Amino acid sequence: MSGRLVRCDDRAALDATLAPVRGADEPIAFVPTMGALHHGHRALVERAATRAGTVVVSIFVNPTQFDRADDLAAYPRTLEADLAVLADVAQDRGVTVVAFVPTVDAVYPDGPAATLHVPDVTEHLCGASRPGHFDGVATVVDALLAAVRPTLLVMGRKDHQQLVVVARLVEMRGHRVLLDAAPTVRDVDAVAVSSRNTLLDPAGRALARHIPVALGRAVDRVRAARAAGTTVEADAIVATAARALAADGLVLDYLELVDPERIVPLTGELRADVDALLAVAVHVRTGAEGSAGTVRLIDNVRLGDADDEQRLRDALAAAPRPGAAQG
Ligand code: AMP
Repeated sequence: MSGRLVRCDDRAALDATLAPVRGADEPIAFVPTMGALHHGHRALVERAATRAGTVVVSIFVNPTQFDRADDLAAYPRTLEADLAVLADVAQDRGVTVVAFVPTVDAVYPDGPAATLHVPDVTEHLCGASRPGHFDGVATVVDALLAAVRPTLLVMGRKDHQQLVVVARLVEMRGHRVLLDAAPTVRDVDAVAVSSRNTLLDPAGRALARHIPVALGRAVDRVRAARAAGTTVEADAIVATAARALAADGLVLDYLELVDPERIVPLTGELRADVDALLAVAVHVRTGAEGSAGTVRLIDNVRLGDADDEQRLRDALAAAPRPGAAQG
């Protein structure tokens, strides 16, 4: 089966493209993105393509989820390259990829404003450090789900809290869609792939390497406790990771151990097989053009999730040592 890419810039074009698929009651998978597509996004689209013959990928830099105007202005935009990636996946996987590229006016006919709020799970992590961020995410995902009406929504575990917020949103708003969480894709240096990584200069990139290393130290700590059959203090897990993040040029935004479903801090003595999310946000100093001097990166590991722990350990084991000559 040969694949094809269809670009739709508004809801009418999207409805016309999807009408036969909806009419035949065939599955539609949806991958929302802000563009500047990288191989993490690509993995999501490929995953979606194994589950549906039609994959809608939205490319929309959502203004209402940015709490700083300079951050929104600096966000990378690479539409032509993005469309080339999607055409390639369509061809490679023999599916129809629909690139939905709406304007701000099309998404927000009454002007860009966040009108939805998902309570409880937005009190900590990015919810605390980026006020209003998840209201913007909830509002745009709600609008996009209403436009696309997918059967499957594929999102990345790198943005774990976002996944939890969207799961709540789907419930709150009665969207009839299955949510599929895809594992975090890491680069050769184990840094989680992110559109924001393009804003880092080489020194900033080297600093970013501390992030997966810190998460890996936490994994080692709980694994050691498991092997020894002991408990482990929540504070000790966080302190172990924090030590690996102490570097000139890195400013910690947050580093928290939380319950992965409720997104509330875990404290005190924990069983070593506890299901816990260690989540981090860091401002990385960079001199690269177009950035405001720092780039904010997030990452996480789900402790107690054997697959997530192992993926991180494998990525770290395969990464060149920091400071080693690059080929
Ligand atoms: P963004 O364009 O950053 O809003 O991300 C769009 C989707 O891609 C979200 O569901 C993200 O969680 C997901 N994503 C971004 N980076 C990665 C990554 N490194 N691995 C897996 N999924 C990712």
